[in-house]
Order: sequence, then C-alpha cells, then structure tokens
Amino acid sequence: MKNLRLIAIFLFAFALFSCNKKETSPQNKTETEKSMLNERLEAFSPVTITTDISWLTDNQKKVVELLSKAGKIADELFWRQNTYDGIALRDSLAKIDAPEANELLRYIKIWYGPYDAMFGEKRFVGNGPDVRPAQGNLYPQDLTKEEFEEYIKNNPDEKKDLESQYTVVVRDGDKLKTIPYHEAYPEMLQMADLLDEAAKYADNPTLKNYLTLRAKAFRTDEYYESDMAWMDIKDNDIDVVIGPIENYTDAMFNYKTAFEGVVMIKDKEASKLLDMYKDNIDYFEHHLPYDKKYIRKSAGGGNILQVVNVYYFGGDCNGGTKTIAASLPNDPRVHATKGGKKSMYKNIMEAKFDKIVMPIAKAVMAEDLIPYCSKNSFTSFVTLHEVSHTLGRGYVYGKKDLAVRKAFKERFSAIEELKADILGMYNHKHLLEKGLIDEEEMKRTIATYIPGLYRSIRFGAEEAHGKANVIQLNFLMEKGAIILDDNGKLTYNPDIFMDKVAELAGMVLTMQAEGNYEAGGELLEKYGQVSDITKKIIESLSNIPRDLDNQ
Ligand code: ZN
Repeated sequence: MKNLRLIAIFLFAFALFSCNKKETSPQNKTETEKSMLNERLEAFSPVTITTDISWLTDNQKKVVELLSKAGKIADELFWRQNTYDGIALRDSLAKIDAPEANELLRYIKIWYGPYDAMFGEKRFVGNGPDVRPAQGNLYPQDLTKEEFEEYIKNNPDEKKDLESQYTVVVRDGDKLKTIPYHEAYPEMLQMADLLDEAAKYADNPTLKNYLTLRAKAFRTDEYYESDMAWMDIKDNDIDVVIGPIENYTDAMFNYKTAFEGVVMIKDKEASKLLDMYKDNIDYFEHHLPYDKKYIRKSAGGGNILQVVNVYYFGGDCNGGTKTIAASLPNDPRVHATKGGKKSMYKNIMEAKFDKIVMPIAKAVMAEDLIPYCSKNSFTSFVTLHEVSHTLGRGYVYGKKDLAVRKAFKERFSAIEELKADILGMYNHKHLLEKGLIDEEEMKRTIATYIPGLYRSIRFGAEEAHGKANVIQLNFLMEKGAIILDDNGKLTYNPDIFMDKVAELAGMVLTMQAEGNYEAGGELLEKYGQVSDITKKIIESLSNIPRDLDNQ
C-alpha cells in the first residue's frame, strides 16, 4: 500500500512537469518531462559551501562543530515553516530508489518544499495548491489576509501576539490563537542546549556571552538581549547567525520570522579593506538624495562590517537562491543603539560571480564593457547594498512608534531591497567625489551592476530581491540610463546614469520616510512587471546557471 502511494506521488510530480507542454505526443512525453526537470536542475550549479577551519584552535573547532549541529536543526525547522507538506514529500521521495525520484529529491531540497519561486511559486511535486500559499506554514492554510485583518480589528487585545514575529497562528474553533515558537518548535530546546555547550568551549567572552543569551532566547522567544549581545562580537574568528531571523517566508504579512543557521569564519584581511565604507556611513546618511528634513543625525553608531567565509549554511538563507550577505539584526531598537552588523559571505559571492555574473556579462553586455565586469566590483556593490540597509529611516517621519517595516506590510521586503540596491549604486557617487575610487572603478561598478540586475531578476519577479531588480531595470531603461547598443547589447548613458539612479533612490527613500504604503504599491505596479525586452534577454541566458545548489 505504502509503495503504491509513493509511486502515485511520484507520477503526479511528472504530470505537473509536463503540464506546460500539452501538445507533446504521448510517446515523446517521458523525454520532455525529464528534460524539464533536468533543465531546472541545471539552473543550479552544484557546489559545497564550506571553508577551511584547519587553522582554528581545538576549542574553536569544537564551537564550529556544535554550532553547525544547531544550524542543522534550524535547517529542518525551516522546512517545516516554509510549506505544510514539504517534509512529507521529501521523505517519501527519499524512499523511492529510481534516478528520476533522486533528481526530484534534489530539486525539492533546493527549494525546501514543492514550490519553485523561479517559476511563479508554482508547485512542481505532490498534490496541493498550485501556487505557494503566501502564509507558508505559519498561519492556517485556509486563512485569508482579509480574515486576519478583520479578526484583529474585532480582537485588538490579541493584535500583538497575532502579529508577533515569534508566534505561529492556528485556529481554535471560531477563534484564532497563537503558539510561541519555542512551543510550536520544541527542537529549539535542543538548539539551546547545543549553544550552551558551545559557550563552554568559546574562549572569546563576547561569543560566550552571546551563545548563553541566545540559548535563553530559544527557550523564551525573547530575542532582544541576545541581539544586543550579538552586536558585541566584533573581532572574533567565529561568528554565527542562528534562529528565526528574516520575514520573507511569511509572504502574506512579512511578520513571522524563518529559521536559519550560518556559521561564519572571519576573513580578517578582507574585512580591513571594508573599513572605508564604515568610515563613510554617516556621510552617506547626510547626503541621501531626498528632503533634508528626513535626514537623521547618524546612521546609528557602531555599524560593523565583516567579510566572512561560510562553514555551515542552512535554512531560509539556503532556500532557492543563496544569500550572499546579511544585514542584521532586524530589530530597529538594536539598530537605534548599536547599529547593525553586515556580514559579506565571501566564498558564496565568489562562487556566484564565477558561475553566474561573469557568464551573464559575456552574454548581454556591450563588447567594450565586458572587460570591466569585475569580481571586486561585485563584492564592493554587495557590500554597499548591505551598508545601505541601515541608511534612510527605520521609523516613519513624525511617527516614532511606526516602523517602516510595519507601514509597508507585505510590500516592505521588495521596497527595502530596492532601497538597498539603488543606494548601493548611488553611494559610489560619493566615493568617486571623495577620491576613494576613480572613474575606471566607477565604470567597473556600473558594468558589473547591470549584469547583476539580470542575475537577480532570474530569482523570479515575485521574490523580493527579484522584484526590486525588475523595478531598477525598468526605471533606468525607461529613463534612457540603461540602453541597447546597435548590436542589441546592454550599455549605459554616462551623462545621465547617476542622475537617474539618484532620482529612483530619492523616490524610494521618500516613500519610506512618509510610510506611504500606497505609493509603494504604485511603484511595484508601474515598474514591477518583466518587460518583453527583458524576457527576451532572460531567455537568451537559459544555459547559464541561475544559482548554486549547496550540496
Ligand atoms: Zn538586502
């Protein structure tokens, strides 16, 4: 019986893979279906994301090993949060001994579930909704946005718990009820024990303190203290991001946080080179291209920039497209007092540049710009993207209790990524004016930025980063800042390029400062659709991997 059920799931998967090719004759069907799965698998270049730790002390190695174990639990918890049936499908496929099932298993592991964000969040295996439910597995599957908002209106006392970043929402008869993460996910207690154990081996006092407080947070869902302590880890060889962190998985409201684990080994040499950005953060803040009244005194003291190589990488950051840098923590209260910490994942960035950005540049860029596409410019742009997340207002102007994140609800992620990207480009203008980079470096930056837009659009236009890049490309093309040359290749107009970048940056910063949810919607609507030219260019990139498959 069990085998029959497994085979049924398996066949259903292939039926879905074939649904776009209805005209295929029955005898050719298997061939076509297989090639569709292969094609999607080929979009992910296999790599193993890890790094050499042989130079660490024995105690440090022990810490890394224990944190990686805790990361593995975070990885499994993310599976549970992302979709309601991902784990069941994965485990069923693992039991089938057939090459096709193995491939499907590899693909479901890439996405942590049966939905593929590069193809409109469409289901590719198993029986269930055709498109990924926006609520993930964090709210009841039949809950609508309208019902949730209406419920909160009628039950204002429950608003705080229902909108909490650290509760799962379930039905309780006619009512909604919340379960705190540490009860909904009891494995968090094991994670806490592993962190306590790691703390015993941590020689660095700031890391030891953080691990102890983080373990406590996993038992109580109170993260503030540990987030503050995380900001104190500055010059240690080992750092870690672990727990429920980012809000993208909750595509309905961006309220609930998703689990991930990143064990990082500091690249001290490369981190030193980044101090230049750190020294300029307040200068960037004071020269943002919008109304002076919105400009803050400081971007938040104590911002830390670090370049790391990733040893363990699992959960949310590893689902589909791999994160290459993170700006954390997300709590604006921590930002206000201690700033943020940006970690650039150097080994992941470099793998992406080699396997994706450079091949895209060769395919789409004007001949004379290809030699300007550079690995260092890619790293530098990503770094300034991360710096830019701390620029502009975290709270709406004149409303000191309304976080921009809250004001923009489900539109926040795309708008925030857009801000970080366009300011990442814009801030190069200041570096140039201050003589910290030269015109050649500026050209390299732009020649790397443009193929980078296509890299991100290929994540899928529904995904926050993908959407943010579609908007930049459409806007800059409409304004004539990015243009096609006579050979149909991409180039830019140096006379207006940076002005148009400033114009878009100003628009986004202003809508955030005003908490203008409607303006955000209009921008997403007007510039967020993939144009025919872009579609054609994207199609021409079909042989270039879209991302990495961390195996
Ligand atoms: Zn970002």
